[in-house]
Amino acid sequence: MTLGTKADMRRLNKPGQAARSILLLCAECVRDKEYSKRLVSVADNVAEAEAEYAKKGEATSLFTIVSAGTIAGCVTIKDMEKLYTGTFSRKNSPVRYIYDEIKLAPRNSICPLCAQRVVSTLDHYLPKSRHPAFAVTPLNLIPSCTDCNKAKLDLQPANASELRIPVKAASRTDVMAATVPL
Ligand SMILES: [Zn+2]
Repeated sequence: MTLGTKADMRRLNKPGQAARSILLLCAECVRDKEYSKRLVSVADNVAEAEAEYAKKGEATSLFTIVSAGTIAGCVTIKDMEKLYTGTFSRKNSPVRYIYDEIKLAPRNSICPLCAQRVVSTLDHYLPKSRHPAFAVTPLNLIPSCTDCNKAKLDLQPANASELRIPVKAASRTDVMAATVPL
């Protein structure tokens, strides 16, 4: 058995929670009833988007997912950014444990992207400013260090070879599939 190899550290397990249940749990925490209702109304769309993400991730064609200004014309980018910052990732929020679970996935809290620095945040592989449907989708959330997260910013990968993250791994799917050499 080998321990602590680079590839080993980069490996991530599949997220335990589905995007739909995270969205619904977040919606329960929101005080504004109208906002909460709108979030619940797009649960199916978020679940469908997650299924598409999983499929395209396997085919390494995430870059073909078209950006959108809203989810089903009902929930905006701002709505989802607010949900991510104000509810999902907010310290002391009732759903923060889900964020922490995803963040704590890498072994020894080592950033799976650079395999060097310590994880400090979650990076949206497809930016939430362009893909509101993936703002709280675990498959789209890569635990990363501050440097790797900053290096990528809000850029959308334009094609498979033009990935703006300073690493070999193209997405969480790639990170999850990283093989461990024996
Ligand atoms: Zn890193």
